[in-house]
Amino acid sequence: MAKTATKSAEKEAKPAVATKQPTKAESAVAAKLVALYRLQHVDSMVDKIRTQRGELPLEVQDLEDEVAGLETRMNKLADDLKAAETAVSDKQNFIKDAKANIKKYEAQQSKVRNNREYDSLSKEIEFQNLEIQLAEKRIKEGKFASESKSAAVEESKQLFKDRKKDLDLKKKELDDIIAETEKEEKELAKKSSAAAGEVEERLLTAYRRIRGNARNGLAVVHMERGSCGGCFNAIPPQRQLDIASHKKIIVCEHCGRILVDDSVVNEVVGG
Ligand SMILES: [Zn+2]
Repeated sequence: MAKTATKSAEKEAKPAVATKQPTKAESAVAAKLVALYRLQHVDSMVDKIRTQRGELPLEVQDLEDEVAGLETRMNKLADDLKAAETAVSDKQNFIKDAKANIKKYEAQQSKVRNNREYDSLSKEIEFQNLEIQLAEKRIKEGKFASESKSAAVEESKQLFKDRKKDLDLKKKELDDIIAETEKEEKELAKKSSAAAGEVEERLLTAYRRIRGNARNGLAVVHMERGSCGGCFNAIPPQRQLDIASHKKIIVCEHCGRILVDDSVVNEVVGG
């Protein structure tokens, strides 16, 4: 505290000195702040592009998931329908065979030598007729099931088609926006990694942590009219002086963002 007081007293003591030379340590911190703010500046431009793109990528993702689900359902219903139709044709073949059997038994009946053989064949014929009746009942049920399944298949096909159309539209919209901003984004990504390369590892980690936690992606903010540019809380006068003096990196006591003064901002955006 005493040291800072001395420093500011010193500053006040020689206001006439127009070209106050910063100490080596001060200029080193200033360079770090400039590098940090440059990185933030580039990353904020990337953020802006992404905000313009908005919820579209998520909407496309949701629609893709939905369409995939509808396709699975449509295929499953089609399989069910096929199975029901196969069951019906199996029963129809069964009836054909049973009718052939009946004909065969009737032919045998005309050649039997006793009543016992005749009765036995009659029982077989009766049994085959019962089987035919049962199969006919199953066919009727199967056809009914097929009809409702086929309606469900048609319905799911239509739904799939509609949602697929929505998806294609949204995808195109997104592709157009991406195409428009892709070049700019690539250049910014290059600039961002170049800027990040100028920031020391420890500060870069802090920057990414603060940026990750901040909703607006701001980790380094401009101190404007004595307030934090991130949370807009007032910064105490002594802290304002510390920020401007570039003796060390100062964070906002409310939101934890790194604060920079006009001179750092101007160095980056060229004001
Ligand atoms: Zn703040």
